[in-house]
Amino acid sequence: MAYSTDVDRKWQKKWEETKLYKYDPNKKGEKLYVLEMFSYPSAANLHLGHWYNYSLTDSWSRMKRMQGYNVFHPMGFDSFGLPAENYAIKTGIHPKDSTLHNIEIMEQQLKNMGATYDWDYEIATCKPEYYKWNQWIFLRLLEKGLAYRKNAPVNWCPQCNTVLANEQVIDGACERCHTEVEHKNMTQWFFKITAYAQELLDCLPQLDWPEKTKKIQTNWIGRSEGTQISFLCEKNGERLKDEDGSDLKLSVFTTRADTLMGVSYVVVAPESPLCTLLTTDECREKVEEYQAFTKKASDIERMSTTSEKTGVFTGSYAIHPITGKKVPIWASDYVIATYGTGVVMAVPAHDERDYEFAKKFDLPIQRVIASKPDAEDELPFIEKGVLVNSGEFDGLNFKTAIDAIIEKLQPQGMAERKINYRLQRSTTVSVTG
Ligand SMILES: [Zn+2]
Repeated sequence: MAYSTDVDRKWQKKWEETKLYKYDPNKKGEKLYVLEMFSYPSAANLHLGHWYNYSLTDSWSRMKRMQGYNVFHPMGFDSFGLPAENYAIKTGIHPKDSTLHNIEIMEQQLKNMGATYDWDYEIATCKPEYYKWNQWIFLRLLEKGLAYRKNAPVNWCPQCNTVLANEQVIDGACERCHTEVEHKNMTQWFFKITAYAQELLDCLPQLDWPEKTKKIQTNWIGRSEGTQISFLCEKNGERLKDEDGSDLKLSVFTTRADTLMGVSYVVVAPESPLCTLLTTDECREKVEEYQAFTKKASDIERMSTTSEKTGVFTGSYAIHPITGKKVPIWASDYVIATYGTGVVMAVPAHDERDYEFAKKFDLPIQRVIASKPDAEDELPFIEKGVLVNSGEFDGLNFKTAIDAIIEKLQPQGMAERKINYRLQRSTTVSVTG
């Protein structure tokens, strides 16, 4: 490991002997905690990217020390999980041996670079002294109901045998091995981060973060105020029932309840259990074919407004909660099971994606919002306006229409105001085949 010059070695040795970078909590000076992302010891050497990352904070720590701060600058290794497992498979060396060996080498390399860490506080996440605290936190979360198990769809790489985040799926393939990603349902652990959505939003303005970062966070949490509306449904001419014998309700979340009178079909996510439930025997073959087809696309691709719309009729109908009219229920991958309720009411005259879909599959497009009562705006017209062709609601505006629709449907339990967050409960990735 003789990368250092004689001069480097001489001084590094001196720093080590005099414990120059040792953190002493009792030393005078304002305390400063500088912490970087830990390296994965998944290969035997650091690469340039590591030091590209660490040199900035190391230089900054040095500057702060010179300015009189009492700097705490520790280092550690994120040594659990898939990278270590893959390395062990590749080399045939037991992960315990390879991981600890790799850590030793990387540690020495960081010392050779002249990094100013206090190594007395080093941690490795694969060591029991460290992970007992992970286990401790997990148990607290479990006690509080903030960790729970649930069956939910995931992106699955059959080659890596692991779950992938949406961001790890590139053009429908695993970012690591480029294998085509599958969607499948698995029982997983979840953390209920949604319980903190509002608190996160409320705290953002007080944070000393760049505005751009705050905006990304705000969008990620994605709070929207809207209405949850229920539709009863009919399969083979009969009202669909829930397990307890009551009427099955399809719930949709919408920020545009004012467009309710323009609903001409309802869409369910193809991967949701509801889709399978709604599918009639007559349509089953086509729906199953479609489900297999949509397993391949990533959620990000599916949510894109520009991608070509695809879909298939389930054979069942939703009953419009106000008119009682039957509208067809389609399965389409522009609706995602884990977003909202996994069901949407489609109003093609006033939503771009619904409009494209209706055009493609020749579904009715009915104007119910206009900029002025007699205006013939170009469709899809997605602005707010006044209600037209909406019977008793004609002439109402965005707000008064929503109020009136909720007032009418709420007593029957068919509508209620609701706040929805785009933020997903997060899953732990420690799922093995
Ligand atoms: Zn893979």
